[in-house]
Amino acid sequence: MTALFQQLPSVDKLLKTPQGEDLVAQFGHSAVVKTIRYLLEQAREQIKQTQQLPDYFANFDRTFAEIQHILTQQSQVQIQSVHNLTGTVLHTNLGRALWAESAQQAALTAMQANVALEYDLCEGKRSHRDHYISELLRELTGAEAACIVNNNAAAVLLMLATFAQGKEVIISRGELIEIGGAFRIPDIMAQAGCKLVEVGTTNRTHLKDYRNAINENTAFLMKVHSSNYQICGFTKSVEEAELAELGAEFNLPVISDLGSGALIDLSQYGLPKEPTVQEKLSQGIDLISFSGDKLLGGVQAGIIVGKKALIEQLQAHPLKRALRCDKVILAGLEATLRLYLHPEKLTQTLPTLRLLTQSVEQLTIQAEQVKAILESKLTDFSVQIEASSAQIGSGSQPMARIPSVALTLSPKTSRKLTALLTRFKQLPTPIIGRVEQDKIWLDMRSLADVNALLEGLNSL
Ligand SMILES: *Cc1c(COP(=O)(O)O)cnc(C)c1O
Repeated sequence: MTALFQQLPSVDKLLKTPQGEDLVAQFGHSAVVKTIRYLLEQAREQIKQTQQLPDYFANFDRTFAEIQHILTQQSQVQIQSVHNLTGTVLHTNLGRALWAESAQQAALTAMQANVALEYDLCEGKRSHRDHYISELLRELTGAEAACIVNNNAAAVLLMLATFAQGKEVIISRGELIEIGGAFRIPDIMAQAGCKLVEVGTTNRTHLKDYRNAINENTAFLMKVHSSNYQICGFTKSVEEAELAELGAEFNLPVISDLGSGALIDLSQYGLPKEPTVQEKLSQGIDLISFSGDKLLGGVQAGIIVGKKALIEQLQAHPLKRALRCDKVILAGLEATLRLYLHPEKLTQTLPTLRLLTQSVEQLTIQAEQVKAILESKLTDFSVQIEASSAQIGSGSQPMARIPSVALTLSPKTSRKLTALLTRFKQLPTPIIGRVEQDKIWLDMRSLADVNALLEGLNSL
């Protein structure tokens, strides 16, 4: 054993070889030393346990190859690109909406250069970072003003903290929802220091339920879009317009968390209808919050639009400073919203809408291209093209399915699906599909770049 320990090279000896010097030039002294020490420690452990040298200490070439490998791995960004073939277009675990080309450009500019973030170029003086976006949203939605924060959860938190700290918020029991990632409306209310007053029952809430709960401590009436579930059957909820009337009667704001918050009517493309921000505003809602990276098809942000006087209060609250967005996000959001000034072009300019509106014929053509490669590479799997149903995702219309096309892979022999799933995940750009009915489903609806996939499959 002692002989084995003595075979281990010293750190210095490794560093003084030409290969060691090359590595130092490439990665810097401290990282190389740290890696060598780590390998030596591993080796001593292995000698103690197995009385053998690890392979990578068999000779110097192998040792340096191992060091190179470890350091290269370390520099690899782990939040890497993947092919989304899950059939869920806005997949939270896969980063939701893809950015439009113009949003990427605007973000890149904001990263590389100083930008007029809080600076009014006409007046030559200080301005507000939400200013341009607020103006745009006014034009697009008719709202008086806007406030931008980190995400929609932050938007809800800010609205509650600003208007309802130490006071009561009235909300229907059927809308006390949990969205993925432990975002629960009652918890957010507790965080914001307000008291939740639940009215109605799980399936039915009437206007009189809200009316009976109003007292001098009421801060506002709240609606939450039940994004990720549906209650069917004997149900009743109160429409925004009715609630707005009740709010006006008692001089109480009515605030709505719209979740996805579409800015255009999706039914014009034959897609499931989501309530639009404009509709809700015209029904008299005072403040509406929604996400920037769901159906809007943009960046992660929480967007609040509505009455100017209320928006000003949000902007003045200390929490706004903690929840504000950075220049890159704001530039991306502004560029995304500018695309909505040309609504007829959105199916081309906005990736989310492009994916959602692709025809089944287009998807079938793509599926055939992918099938040809898969069949040549995976001879022990049966590859079929089947009708599939995709979904928008991120809580938009959870029950609605969008017609789609998928490749399905089933083993011809007793081979396990998991082995193939692992191979897919180990590709330079991993492929993420779904497993259903003992088959792997690769749904074409959510795939952003078929050419990149075809290219990537060559290394399968
Ligand atoms: C998605 C969603 C949220 C959370 O939005 P994020 O932008 O993910 O923070 C809040 N409320 C509703 C109704 C939602 O659908």
